[in-house]
Amino acid sequence: MGGASSGPGGQGVPSVDEGAARAPRPPGRPVRPASVPARRAAPTAIPLDREPHAPAAEVPALRRAAKADAGRPPVGFPWAATATWSAVYLLAGVLGGITRLPSPPVAFVWPAAGVALLWFVLTPREQRYRVAMPALLVMAFLANVTTGASAVTSLAFALANVAHAVVGGGLFLRLAPHTPDSLRDARGLLALGAGSLAGSVAGTPLILALIAPNDLPGALSIIGLWIPRFTASTAVVMAFVLAWRAHLAERRAGVLRHARSRGEIAVVLSFALAVHVMVDSARPDDAFAFLTLPVTVLVGWRLGPAWTATYGLVAGAVGVVATLGGAGPFAEVSPVTTRTVVVQAFIAVTGLVGLALSLEVEQRRLALEASDRRGDALERTLQRAVVPNALLSLEEGSRGTIRYANPALERWWSDDGDDGALAGRTWAELLGPDEHERFVGALDDLAAGRTEVWEGEVAHRTRSGEDRVCLAVAGLVGREHVAGSAERVATVQLVDVTDRTALEERLAHQALHDQLTGLPNRTLLQERIDHAIAAAPRSGRAVAVLFLDLDHFKRVNDSLGHAAGDTVLVEVASRLVEAVRPGDTVARIGGDEFVVCCPLVEGRHVGAELATRILRQVCRPITLEGRTIPVSASIGMTLARPGTDAGDLLREADTAMYEAKLGGRGRTAFFSDPLFDRVRLDLQLDAELRRAVDEQQFVVHFQPIVELGTGRVCAVEALLRWAHPARGLLLPGEWIDAAEAAGLLPELGEWAITEAFEQWPRIARAHGEHVSVNVNVSASQLRDGGFAAVVEHALQRTGMPPDRAVLELTESHLLTIRDSLVEELERVRGLGVRLAVDDFGTGYSSLTQLTALPIDEVKIDRSFVAAMADDARSRAVVEGVVAMARAMSLAVVAEGVETPEIARRLSACGCPTAQGYLWGRPAPLEP
Ligand code: C2E
Ligand code: CA
Ligand code: CA
Repeated sequence: MGGASSGPGGQGVPSVDEGAARAPRPPGRPVRPASVPARRAAPTAIPLDREPHAPAAEVPALRRAAKADAGRPPVGFPWAATATWSAVYLLAGVLGGITRLPSPPVAFVWPAAGVALLWFVLTPREQRYRVAMPALLVMAFLANVTTGASAVTSLAFALANVAHAVVGGGLFLRLAPHTPDSLRDARGLLALGAGSLAGSVAGTPLILALIAPNDLPGALSIIGLWIPRFTASTAVVMAFVLAWRAHLAERRAGVLRHARSRGEIAVVLSFALAVHVMVDSARPDDAFAFLTLPVTVLVGWRLGPAWTATYGLVAGAVGVVATLGGAGPFAEVSPVTTRTVVVQAFIAVTGLVGLALSLEVEQRRLALEASDRRGDALERTLQRAVVPNALLSLEEGSRGTIRYANPALERWWSDDGDDGALAGRTWAELLGPDEHERFVGALDDLAAGRTEVWEGEVAHRTRSGEDRVCLAVAGLVGREHVAGSAERVATVQLVDVTDRTALEERLAHQALHDQLTGLPNRTLLQERIDHAIAAAPRSGRAVAVLFLDLDHFKRVNDSLGHAAGDTVLVEVASRLVEAVRPGDTVARIGGDEFVVCCPLVEGRHVGAELATRILRQVCRPITLEGRTIPVSASIGMTLARPGTDAGDLLREADTAMYEAKLGGRGRTAFFSDPLFDRVRLDLQLDAELRRAVDEQQFVVHFQPIVELGTGRVCAVEALLRWAHPARGLLLPGEWIDAAEAAGLLPELGEWAITEAFEQWPRIARAHGEHVSVNVNVSASQLRDGGFAAVVEHALQRTGMPPDRAVLELTESHLLTIRDSLVEELERVRGLGVRLAVDDFGTGYSSLTQLTALPIDEVKIDRSFVAAMADDARSRAVVEGVVAMARAMSLAVVAEGVETPEIARRLSACGCPTAQGYLWGRPAPLEP
């Protein structure tokens, strides 16, 4: 570019930029601290308009603030800026005036045009039209008057100047919104050219309007001169200012690692200008003009945009002065207007080449700076990383060589931590044995681009030779300037997971083993059993599961303390382990429950032998602190069959163990299928009974109790029946124990009592008002308390006379009765209800014990009554009980009378009442 503009306008410009640096942001910038008044602007400063640049405006909150601010009046009038711009403009105008042509009467160069455009571009948006452009209008008018133009012409030129600034500046801002950085790239250059040209064109209509009516050819020639002259002048001034602004901003940011040396600048610049002076002072026929191009290329290549712009300004000035003085390559071109255009075009072209080249070089330099900064950042990141970290070379000959090791890695490697101990070593030295191939293979893959990241658990070894398990992550960094080298490198990060791995292993062991004995727990046992079952078809051998439970272990705990109990368990565990073969599993699955799983037992016979052997081994006394503790255990055993799993086998062995305990402890029992069936039946019965209670599948039958003397019915006993939907009427013997065990009897018993009481009116109608109703009560009905309330409730609900109610309690239950229960029974009796002892004689209680209980009636058990005919001793028992009861004023009923013979004998010994098939079976009441 370069132009025929003169230098002085440019001299002030570096100070313009420095001033701009000091100038606060213009009012309306949201980021400026409110405490800094706009007036603080350096008096000579031209405000730096960063408006189009402001990335802050991208932030919505700030944008909102900016909007709010924009509505406010600007803080004061920008006197300083206006004065400075005016002064610079006038100076540039005067310089232009020096190069005024005789005809047509316009200046040869007009640097004021570039200043005008900058004035627009660098003024804060809200002041452009309110302050800057009116000021420009006044100044341009004055400048033109000074050059000798008439008032009208001056006004026209001033308007043309304003139009130039507005149109050119507007286009420039549109094309290169990042004003300070504009001369950093091709887009900035384009904006510069387009803005300059558009501004120049925009001014022409006014000139035409002014001159054309009087002198059309003159006007056209002025325009022919006008546009290139304005364009070149504008472009060269703006290029100079903007390039230097960008340059100084960069200097302030302090990122000039690749700064040019002053010496080089001085030499190249002097050389280039010397060539120019030589060319410009030569005569036209010397034809040295071509030398300016290579010199400009040299400047653009070596010195960057700011100095290239400076060069263009100075060289342009020299060229203009020389050409005006009639020297230089174009001295002979005439007329002078044509010469003006030619010389300015020539300088513009060479300048443009130089600037374009310098911008290209500048971009490369900035990219290099950025890359360096990235390298620095990477190094800093690595430096601070808490994870051990290194950069390894990927180059062919030195692959795996540590180029950089961060402090964390140095610390990890050696505790004395002397810095730099790792740089220069190869990573192979850090690897545990056998890991070399794998890791080097990973680096090869990275180097060859087969993978970008490699991750693996790799054993490493510290300097002291300690082996550590590390998670290593290696990643490709690429070619980087790191730690002074520029080779291809990869990062490696290490996470030492040794402790975590150990902890995981310990936790895994804890999760699967018993803490006390260290034996496998139930989870691991089931796994092992399932595994053994799965392996059985191949080995052709069955799997035996033995369930061992210590006998009376609670006694050891209770009498000797838990520590002693633990000792016994640990000893038993070790005895078990000794007793089996290595492949067998011994597990502890509960307090004193152990399970042995032997996959190699050939059959039932061998299994039984094994159980006996284990029992012998375990059941030896343990001596503990001088005391001898006897050890006894029961073993239940089962064998895997097709379709059985670990859960089945454990359940079966447990059942068999229970059987062994029942059989008298200290023995072994084999699980048998019938046993299994029984258990299964019990489970089924249980479920059915629950449903039966829910669905009320029960009925009550009644059996008469008669006075032996008269045969008259004096009472009836209510007896429960289960009307099973499939199996018909079921007697209590088949299900009452299961119901009791399932906890169903409290509910069922209460129902029976209420149902029996409900029927009393019908019974009384059949047999008379004196008849009582006997109802059976089981132990579980009494256990939980509140029985008296249940009875009272039944009496109230049914209207049953209490003195006609008898509740039967089985003798064996009464033996376990405690004081609180005696009180409960007293309360029942307090209601007026009588109590009977059922099945008397089977529970080994003595009659004297009965005196302590609130009893009204005794029912002699059927077994004695039935045996009376043949067995003298049974007869004696019956006679004794009858006599005793009479002496204690208790009622007596003999149960199970089936023959007249028995009935006669009972009468003979004075028994007043009896019950049995002889008088009637339990049956539903007749309708
Ligand atoms: P239990 O209280 O001893 O009832 C008498 C049992 O002897 C009844 O059997 C009855 O049918 C039977 N029996 C009566 N006379 C004769 C006879 O001459 N010869 C023979 N061989 N047996 C005779 P059942 O009805 O099978 O009842 C069995 C047991 O079920 C009852 O024995 C009782 O303990 C219990 N039970 C019945 N109903 C209930 C009830 O509602 N609640 C409770 N808790 N237990 C009940
Ligand atoms: Ca009974
Ligand atoms: Ca009975």
